[in-house]
Amino acid sequence: MGLFLSIQEWKMNRYEKRMATMEAKGICPDCNGRGMNILSFNEYYLTNDFDCPGCNGSGLYTDWHENNQ
Ligand SMILES: [Zn+2]
Repeated sequence: MGLFLSIQEWKMNRYEKRMATMEAKGICPDCNGRGMNILSFNEYYLTNDFDCPGCNGSGLYTDWHENNQ
């Protein structure tokens, strides 16, 4: 259990660090500010919609934050 908890903690710290970096840079964590989500490329290709669902394609942290409250 101790190991499990420390992994959880490590993941949380990593996540928070990433969020802090993205917030400082002002870019969307889902697409790294590109405005589209590469991981969902095939899925979105079918609908001709490349916009990142997290930030609606703006690539801005503020938009992502609003959409993920
Ligand atoms: Zn995005």
